[in-house]
Amino acid sequence: MSESNQDCIECGAATHPILVVEQDHQHHDTLKYTAIDAQPSWFLGRYKVEGHLAAELCESCGRVTFRAVPQEQRGS
Ligand SMILES: [Zn+2]
Repeated sequence: MSESNQDCIECGAATHPILVVEQDHQHHDTLKYTAIDAQPSWFLGRYKVEGHLAAELCESCGRVTFRAVPQEQRGS
């Protein structure tokens, strides 16, 4: 299943998938999400990741839309 081929929710133009990354000199990562009331694990010091965010960029108006991709569907 493709994550792209969505029309822009703002203007209806074609969009293409982009990868939104957060990075510094040591590491980089894609954006993920967790529950609104989640707390970082006391053991790992990290949030429990529920999935990652897929993004599409509209070439016409520049709007970026995010869609949640639950962890279970990634097959990894
Ligand atoms: Zn647009």
